[in-house]
This record gives sequence, C-alpha cells and structure tokens, in this order.
Amino acid sequence: MSAADSDSDCIFCKIAAGKIPSRKVYEDEEILAFHDIHPWAPVHFLMVPKAHIPSLAHVGAGHAGMLGRMMTLAPKLALQEGCRPYPQGGYRVVINTGADGGQEVQHLHIHVFGGPRPWLKG
Ligand code: 5GP
Ligand code: ZN
Repeated sequence: MSAADSDSDCIFCKIAAGKIPSRKVYEDEEILAFHDIHPWAPVHFLMVPKAHIPSLAHVGAGHAGMLGRMMTLAPKLALQEGCRPYPQGGYRVVINTGADGGQEVQHLHIHVFGGPRPWLKG
C-alpha cells in the first residue's frame, strides 16, 4: 500500500497504520479487523481495508476481490471472537453508508455484531 492510499486526517487510516492503538482481531496485507471502541453487542468488531476508501458508495469492480475476502473472513472472525454458531447463534453484518445510512467514520468499514441478546442497540 502506498501513501497515496492513505488519508492523513482519517482515524481508521491512522489505526491501520498503527498510529492510533486498537484491539486487533485480524490483520493481513490489505485488511484489518479491530474491536469497536463503543461496542453495541457482546461481540462488536470492525473490518476495514487498509487503503482509504471513503464508503461503500466509492467501490468499483477493482474492489470486488477485497470485498469478497472481507465477507468470507467475517464468519470466521465472528466465531473466533465468540459469536455462537449458526443457526442458534449467528451475527449481524452492517455497512453504514453516507449520512442517511448513519455513517460516522468516512473510511469503509464492516461492523460485525454478535453474542447473546439483549444488545445495547441493533
Ligand atoms: P459508523 O457509524 O461510521 O458506521 O461506525 C463507526 C464506528 O467506529 C462506531 O461504532 C465507533 O464506535 C467506532 N469508532 C470510532 N472511533 C474509533 C476509534 O478510535 N477506535 C475504535 N476501535 N473504534 C472507533
Ligand atoms: Zn481512511
């Protein structure tokens, strides 16, 4: 990843670069997963591409591989982090997009929520 793929004002770029600490769940060359700082559920982590992509509205055909890898990783990490297996257990996978979608951090991220209910939200 080159510096051009990073936004110096973006909090998730800083987390991906290790400049802001996070509780890491998973990391490879293109993807980082870490616990949400304000969890809504017993399990709540975020998956982000290390490259700065502002939102799901900004993805194109060139991102299909990365998005596919994130989505196939999500169930594995969910179980690793304590979500109970499908179908009695399971998890919720959410990508907030834009203001109407409730997106607060403008760096594409996948929320994974799980664990026994009730949850704080969702
Ligand atoms: P959004 O509303 O954009 O979909 O979700 C952003 C999420 O990022 C929120 O759930 C919020 O708690 C989380 N978040 C914001 N800043 C930080 C941070 O510095 N560290 C971590 N681990 N999570 C953060
Ligand atoms: Zn970013």
